[in-house]
Amino acid sequence: MKKRIKELTKIINNANHEYYILEKPTMSDQQYDEYVRELEKLEEEHPEYIQKNSPLKQINVSLNTPFSKVEHMMPMLSLSNVFSYQQLLEFHQRIKKTIAKPEYVCELKIDGLAVSLIYEDGLLKQGVTRGDGFLGEDITNNVLAIKAIPNHLQKKANITVRGEIFMSKEAFENLNNTRQKNNEALFANPRNAASGSVRQLDANVTASRQLDCYIYQGVNQAENSHYERLKALQKLGLKVNPHFSLMSDIDEIFAFIEKWEQGRKNLAYEIDGVVIKIDNVENQKLLGQTAKSPKWAIAYKFPALEEVTQIKDIIFTVGRTGQVTPNAVLDPVHIDGSLVSRTTLHNEKNVLEKDIRIGDYVFVRKAGDVIPEVVKVVTEKRKTSNKKFKMTDNCPICKKKLQKEASAAAYFCVNEKCEAREQESLVHFVSRNAMNIEGLGEKIIEIFYNESFLKSIKDIYLLKNYRHKIISLIGFGEKRIDNILANIEKSKKNNLDKLLFALGIKHVGAKTAKILAQEIKSLEYFESISYDELININEIGDKIAQSVIAYFQKAETQALIAFFKKEQVNIQYYEKGLQEKQFYDKTFVITGTFENYNRLQIAEILENKGARVTNTVTKKTSVLLCGKNPGSKLNKAKELQIPIWDETDFQNNLNI
Ligand code: NAD
Repeated sequence: MKKRIKELTKIINNANHEYYILEKPTMSDQQYDEYVRELEKLEEEHPEYIQKNSPLKQINVSLNTPFSKVEHMMPMLSLSNVFSYQQLLEFHQRIKKTIAKPEYVCELKIDGLAVSLIYEDGLLKQGVTRGDGFLGEDITNNVLAIKAIPNHLQKKANITVRGEIFMSKEAFENLNNTRQKNNEALFANPRNAASGSVRQLDANVTASRQLDCYIYQGVNQAENSHYERLKALQKLGLKVNPHFSLMSDIDEIFAFIEKWEQGRKNLAYEIDGVVIKIDNVENQKLLGQTAKSPKWAIAYKFPALEEVTQIKDIIFTVGRTGQVTPNAVLDPVHIDGSLVSRTTLHNEKNVLEKDIRIGDYVFVRKAGDVIPEVVKVVTEKRKTSNKKFKMTDNCPICKKKLQKEASAAAYFCVNEKCEAREQESLVHFVSRNAMNIEGLGEKIIEIFYNESFLKSIKDIYLLKNYRHKIISLIGFGEKRIDNILANIEKSKKNNLDKLLFALGIKHVGAKTAKILAQEIKSLEYFESISYDELININEIGDKIAQSVIAYFQKAETQALIAFFKKEQVNIQYYEKGLQEKQFYDKTFVITGTFENYNRLQIAEILENKGARVTNTVTKKTSVLLCGKNPGSKLNKAKELQIPIWDETDFQNNLNI
């Protein structure tokens, strides 16, 4: 037991140094928190073995750094963590032993680094890191370079405040992208990036890093309520995160936590939990603190968005256009509630720039609905035997030699008969934004493909001929196959833009398909269309025009069109009663994310009501439909005084 306590003390102290000082963590926060929990348990059971340098007693951070040291007026502590409602309830019960009816302020736990800011006569005099809680590093020059931190307050106040310096998700992506291009070490997450950007000897570097800051505490304020103190800080011109609430009911606190655990993906910055603080400052004093954290506050931590895991293999997959993509096979890990065992590595360039190798330990992040991403390699844990990545020369399925497309930095299998390409083309054809044939998913297509029921698009409309075989051979229920066949029949009535997109013509996405269908009106006309006619259509450029011409000149395509006509698959664009539609003369632009729809769905709903949906806000835009985290389009719309709708306005106006 003594040995394990010693071991854990060493591991955690070392992780603290890597995390806080070097800004190069080699383990995930989850793993770190697990070690801490194990040590907490062992120290409680065997207090006689507690080490002098136990990381649980104090913030054990070596301050052997080039910054000069400053003593904090009041210790700058960490926070105790809980990871479940049960543990939070236990905290609440403990508090109730001292305070009969506690009131709490719930705040978002911003994932950055703590800073102490000292204002004298309303002017920013000093900025200090948390350090070991008693001594911090003087980062005044760097703090002065952060625009979100005011150099002077609205009043000539003498006040010390504390807050969290952080980097937005977008600024983090941009920074890592630039660093990747310049062959510089990458940051594991926005927190490390913020910390690395603030603790710079050259303040110009800090200034260039788009840092932000929310203040969450005033040290020497007069108000006796933390809630009122936050409001007073706002009045002084300090940036306080707007999402704070006063509550006394534990269920309300649970609801707040739940709201933000769901909602965090829509925020522009990362939060790693919710902080729950006693509101009454006298009561805070009564409850006191340990050497490491106050007893009147607690952090409810959300599951981490990243994990460190090992790359077991790198395999290659082929898409419908023939593009060959490297994918990492991972030692499975739970991230943000789902098990991640595989993720795309995008392309050769990305793998080489990040220098990802089989056997490496990597940080994998999964933020919100985004697909998991290998952020960076933990080079400290690399074995010398891990070999540098090499892109495959041949298609992993048909084994034909790949061709590199210089402009796209991508490799393609150009064999149109490649089985992988054929299957992917079928998957695309039936997908939701294409012909939307429900019931015919990827797995079923694979089975039907291997049984030779489905080899090409034509076969989808001939599948009915295999009904009996499917039932007897594969053991499909009649109801299931009849449902699929009915959906196939239904898809024959789809409008031309859906069919055009479904064909999977290179460079023709859903939007381009719509433009082409609206202009050209019938699939038959495409057979004789000229390059000049295409290029004259708004938003159609050289690449698309060339690709469309090449596709429709093929004898195979022409045979397919003849087949569609025979099978009565609609090949015309129809625009019924456009003038009667609610928005026939309106142009919409959509920005941000929405709770109940994705953007493609919104565009489709609007287009069905006759609207035009474009990408750029101009004077001609009728309405900007604005979701959460909008881009620059919102400012543009405000500038041009274009009406702005949120999701509720959208639903109300459309009566949906
Ligand atoms: P913490 O980050 O868990 O919580 C305390 C900090 O929260 C405060 O210092 C403050 O900076 C911040 N904070 C953000 N919003 C706040 C708000 N509204 N009110 C009050 N404080 C707010 O504690 P810590 O001691 O800074 O770090 C410990 C955590 O850091 C660990 O649980 C772990 O997740 C991570 N860590 C990871 C490693 C690693 O190797 N991966 C090493 C050390 C620490």
